[in-house]
Amino acid sequence: MATELTYHLAGASWSLVLEASVVSFLMGQAQRGRTSRERIGQLYSRDLSSTRIVIDAATQLEPLQSSYARVTFDAQRMAAERRTQFERGLHFVGLWHTHPEPEPVPSELDRRLAEDHAGAASDMRAGIVFMIVGNLRSSRSLRVWVQESASPSARLEGRLLPMEQVPVEAAQRG
Ligand SMILES: [Zn+2]
Repeated sequence: MATELTYHLAGASWSLVLEASVVSFLMGQAQRGRTSRERIGQLYSRDLSSTRIVIDAATQLEPLQSSYARVTFDAQRMAAERRTQFERGLHFVGLWHTHPEPEPVPSELDRRLAEDHAGAASDMRAGIVFMIVGNLRSSRSLRVWVQESASPSARLEGRLLPMEQVPVEAAQRG
């Protein structure tokens, strides 16, 4: 049985919570074996006004092309899914995809993908959640970053910032 997971961003007043059902869904997407392919999907929340943003739903998108360590997808399909989910009261928060490694780190391509999406329509003002699912099927493999929205006025590049997983016992206390 999966339990919910909480993530914190250094210096930020809000935290991110992955619902237990979302945690088990994502762990089930973990790549196993050499013939596995990368998977991708989107993350949604019912309420973005709280300092505790709960991911209530995760979807899986049909990729255009997918291989062991690379996935491409249809941006229009992604946008269409966001509209449908919005009509159900779910706000787009970010993206997840899998990596065939236990403790995944973003590739150069991932960084560009994250920047593109943070620059495009996002319901969360801070940026988008960028999640990579490693292949361990454990909470250690569920890694989360926040891609800051670039600030047009300051002409600053948005940064990709790691979120830290709060140990389950501490999250339950607090
Ligand atoms: Zn990647």
